[in-house]
Amino acid sequence: MAYGKFHNSAKYNRPMTADPNEPRQHFIAEFMGDDPGPSLIVIGGIHGNEEAGVTALERIGPQLMKYYFDIRGRITFLAGNTRALEKGIRFIDADLNRHWTPTNVIRNLPDTNLEPQLSEDRDQAELLRMIMPTLEESEGEVYVLDLHSTSAEGVPFATVGDTLRNRAFAQLFPVTILLGIEEQLEGTLLEYLNGLGCVTLGFEGGQHFAESTVDVHEALVWRAIVNAGILPESDDLDRYNLVLEKATGRPRILEVRYRHAITPEDEFEMLPGFNNFDPISRGQRLAADARGEIKANGRGLVLIPLYQKLGEDGFFIGREVSPFWIWLSGVLRRMRLGSLMHFLPGVQRSKTDPDVFEIDTAVARFFPLQIFHLLGFRKRRWIGDKLVVSRRKFDTTSPFPRM
Ligand SMILES: [Zn+2]
Repeated sequence: MAYGKFHNSAKYNRPMTADPNEPRQHFIAEFMGDDPGPSLIVIGGIHGNEEAGVTALERIGPQLMKYYFDIRGRITFLAGNTRALEKGIRFIDADLNRHWTPTNVIRNLPDTNLEPQLSEDRDQAELLRMIMPTLEESEGEVYVLDLHSTSAEGVPFATVGDTLRNRAFAQLFPVTILLGIEEQLEGTLLEYLNGLGCVTLGFEGGQHFAESTVDVHEALVWRAIVNAGILPESDDLDRYNLVLEKATGRPRILEVRYRHAITPEDEFEMLPGFNNFDPISRGQRLAADARGEIKANGRGLVLIPLYQKLGEDGFFIGREVSPFWIWLSGVLRRMRLGSLMHFLPGVQRSKTDPDVFEIDTAVARFFPLQIFHLLGFRKRRWIGDKLVVSRRKFDTTSPFPRM
């Protein structure tokens, strides 16, 4: 059963999978159950050199036929940067996973009709056209997975934008969770979809070309279908937990403390031999660039070291978070203490956005930023002499279904 075109007009009772003989397209497969339920969108290859996620989705598509009568809600599999995937490179003109800024999205929304400037504008416009109807029509929660792979070896892990809804979903998978990385990056697809209220999970499945990466992605997607409530639990699908457990070891919750941003002019080069999650000590040599040696600014774990040419992140440093902290921040956030922060001296709520606070650090220096951090305010930036902190919307409540 092969259908070349994406189909989103009406409900249909037929599973659809892409025609393997056609040129690369976004559409990989879509299934809609007779019964209403949540929606799950899975994207592979938003970086064109990360084929493993796409391969996993192409593998799962036909197998889903078997479960067809049990499906509640909607499952959509999409390929990300089709033009870069065609060439096997990370991107053509710009990183598609840094392209979801408000300016770009407005330019590329279906009704804007602005001339695309970059290759990634075309891919973004096409993806928006395919994703938006699900958000409009979903009869339950909308979950989004984004499948990645890395240049360095290392155990797979999930990246989670820090909302309580994202955390709760991520903790259903037996994998290590990395908090706070998305808050360090501008314009990721998941950042954008989080802002619209989706529950999102990014996943680094392993090294780009390892066969095990495809297996791990496949296991994750099957578990996501169950964990989202689209298919019921079964022995058949439970065994994918074992695949994930075997690949990832003891699941931990890690948090990003530092991002080493780079530009091409830096001539950044990571020292050889670092794997994801390798422990490092303060002052340890990690990399070199045009200015000289780069040493760790603290102890922790090295995350996503860059061993390929293209990228904007040299490496990250993270540390393990205790379950107590996770529990405490959950309790505080459910109590919505964050909304009361403007009663503290030197703290003002933004006039335009209730999730943004401005801190006069000359007045408010007596309480640590840790408090804001604990309450889910992960983004920080300076505007003049004011420190501005913001948190994600839809932390505890979903905007879906919209109807
Ligand atoms: Zn990637």
